[in-house]
Amino acid sequence: MKQNLTVEEARQIMLAAARPLPVERVDLLSALGRVCAADIAADMDIPPLDNSAMDGYALQAADTVAAAADGPVRLRVVDEVPAGARSEHVLAAGETVRIMTGAPIPDGADAVVRREWVDERDPREIALRKPVPPGSEIRRTGEDVRRGAVVVPAGTIINPATVGMLASVGRPFVTVAARPRIAVLATGDELVDFGEVPENGCIRNSNSYSLAALVYDAGGIPLLCPRVGDRAADVRAALERVLGADIVMTSGGVSYGDYDFVREVIRELAGELLFWKVATKPGRPLAFGVIGGTPVVGLPGNPVSVMVSFEQFVRPMLRKMAGMPAETWLPVRCRALAGEDLPANGNRRHYVRGVVRVREDGRLEAVATGVQGSGILSSMAAGNCFIVVPADSPPIDRGTPVTVEFFPGRTPEPFYC
Ligand code: AMP
Ligand code: MG
Repeated sequence: MKQNLTVEEARQIMLAAARPLPVERVDLLSALGRVCAADIAADMDIPPLDNSAMDGYALQAADTVAAAADGPVRLRVVDEVPAGARSEHVLAAGETVRIMTGAPIPDGADAVVRREWVDERDPREIALRKPVPPGSEIRRTGEDVRRGAVVVPAGTIINPATVGMLASVGRPFVTVAARPRIAVLATGDELVDFGEVPENGCIRNSNSYSLAALVYDAGGIPLLCPRVGDRAADVRAALERVLGADIVMTSGGVSYGDYDFVREVIRELAGELLFWKVATKPGRPLAFGVIGGTPVVGLPGNPVSVMVSFEQFVRPMLRKMAGMPAETWLPVRCRALAGEDLPANGNRRHYVRGVVRVREDGRLEAVATGVQGSGILSSMAAGNCFIVVPADSPPIDRGTPVTVEFFPGRTPEPFYC
């Protein structure tokens, strides 16, 4: 068994064990956030015909070349066309058709002038004091999408605009990768649920809920299992029951304690542990094995550690299983200026919980969220990023660029002084 891996080594092993899931057909709104499994092509041109970009008047541009401030050109209003209708009139020289945004351009017209630019006091004619260039304010057939063009390529993560595209090309259903089902199994004799008042050294179980929320947030389906006590037989039985999941996550019981049985149970059921311990702070005790094809991640017990380990390892696996392209598996990183001095680091990469803000000068600045113990869940709740301090880093002075990883879906906060 490998031990004390770097994040990258551990992640590689875990990603290799994560296989993309089969596809399923869902309605277009349920496809939001999921990955399109096959190219989707347009069934027609969009827009389907030349139409007006403005409320105004369709005309022949050649009629307007002589228009001037002191010599207006007058055109006869011969018809009116709202959106969703068509003018039967074929426009001749000297004529104009009153037209609404989105209405088809009448035959014979080659430009539109917006209402604001014409004198329309007389409903039977308009006066123009400026020439209208040919093609003005006309949205051309197929200028958005050509018939047959791929509008949503396979591998696209479907966003609200994509949902709109699917509707535009007449696709109420779409084939997407399945959502990974992830079992969440908290271990610990000390755990009570939120409905109880913990006594005699007990604590409330938070990991089951933070992890289930992370699974939701990552687009998976959490299966919340009842908590399991610290007995090897109970852990084994509980694990075996949920092996039908796409990933099983446990929390607690993977460290050095006398009652830490999870690691041993995973080893026993998997045949071997693929690794134990990664060089991160928090989150060092992490055990990983594959039981009958199901990746089983033995996360640490501390409330911050589970979340750090989820972001570094489980979310990437989940994204791979959900068919997401490889470049989207890892946390989004950028550089920010340290907003305070950071102490020297030991031999494990430190994921300091921080807040990235946009300063008044537009640069990003990151500050830690106070006390940083692996049990300080409030440090995570207050943050929007990890400040990634490399192993063996010397002290970092305020103002030095550092690497930050955004918590998914969180953006920098504005800076208020
Ligand atoms: P362990 O690795 O099982 O020794 O757990 C490490 C620490 O995390 C201990 O202080 C546990 O009480 C705490 N812990 C374990 N599981 C949970 C949980 N589900 N919710 C909150 N804290 C937990
Ligand atoms: Mg425990």
